[in-house]
Amino acid sequence: MTTARILDFIRTRRPDGPCLVMDLDVVRDNFLSFRKALPDSSIFYAVKANPAPEILRLLAGLGSSFDCASVAEIEMAMKAGATAARVSYGNTIKKERDIARAHALGVSMFAVDSHEEVEKVARAAPGARVFCRVLTDGEGAEWPLSRKFGCVPQMAVDVLVYAHQLGLVSHGVSFHVGSQMTRLDAWDSALGDARRVFDKLARQGIHLKMVNMGGGFPTRYLKDIPTAQAYGQAILASLRKHFGNHIPETIIEPGRGMVGNAGAIKAEVVLVSRKSDEDDVRWVFLDIGKFGGLAETMDEAIRYSIVTPRDGDAMSPCVLAGPTCDSADVLYEKTPYPMPVSLTIGDEVLIEGTGAYTTTYSAVAFNGFEPLRSYVI
Ligand SMILES: *Cc1c(COP(=O)(O)O)cnc(C)c1O
Repeated sequence: MTTARILDFIRTRRPDGPCLVMDLDVVRDNFLSFRKALPDSSIFYAVKANPAPEILRLLAGLGSSFDCASVAEIEMAMKAGATAARVSYGNTIKKERDIARAHALGVSMFAVDSHEEVEKVARAAPGARVFCRVLTDGEGAEWPLSRKFGCVPQMAVDVLVYAHQLGLVSHGVSFHVGSQMTRLDAWDSALGDARRVFDKLARQGIHLKMVNMGGGFPTRYLKDIPTAQAYGQAILASLRKHFGNHIPETIIEPGRGMVGNAGAIKAEVVLVSRKSDEDDVRWVFLDIGKFGGLAETMDEAIRYSIVTPRDGDAMSPCVLAGPTCDSADVLYEKTPYPMPVSLTIGDEVLIEGTGAYTTTYSAVAFNGFEPLRSYVI
């Protein structure tokens, strides 16, 4: 699934050390697929998934908007060509002075999930639009977002009433079903919650306009995933079911689904060894690990597809680990990873589908290893 352009780049440029190579053509295809799958939804790319300037510029040019979690991300999106009107400050946890800076840059849409955060926005960005995030159960997500963000729907009602009282524009409801969501129906119950929040506010004379349906769209790792089209159909059916003929403005915020399959990491086998002569599980150490960008292997949550030059030879289970001197730097051990028996020190491997949540998760210089380099082609 890694594109010929990426393979050519690695073959001809022979970059030294581990690196991510991103193919912009794939990002463009992904954007167009999302737009086709949900033609009435605005696309706010979640910048944190991969903020490479070339990617932001491409998406800005295609008409994307941007979901940003910090002032630095807002500045990156604007530098790439997005106007402030196309930026959402989607983090529910912001310093008041950062809200003020975003407001000064012209950003006028902010996420909240508490009364306390509403007060900050009301002081630092008077008159802005806010949307309140509701909790979801994350059931079916391979990288769930737990209970850190959002509040229960009844509290969302109170938060949005409070925002209205403080002179903000209560604009809508948001949720995130959990990242790498492989269940098509995951949006349904959250859209039901959103509708109930809309109704309760309408009874108080506050008319919400927008539902932000978040990210969660998956990347193909080892298992097949449904198409963007299938997600679009399921989401549209749920929107009709819960909102009937009064479907509000909608937003989606794909991160992983926009860039995950557009990148591959070239890495190298540093050591193949055993812990005892009787061991039938070998240890394979790569020159990249949890601290070099593969943080999503935490709890073995994301299982990447790894291509080796010896695929086709007999396989046997391996523990896969990174190169640093931290014992947490093990990628797959509970469920060993099958690798060719003939795999040898110095072999180059390709870790596929690594365009999202890798460069941004790589440490600056743990153990002296440089941060994950990236090439965007
Ligand atoms: C991280 C994040 C996203 C992107 O999630 P994916 O699962 O990568 O699509 C979207 N919205 C918000 C608010 C986020 O924090």
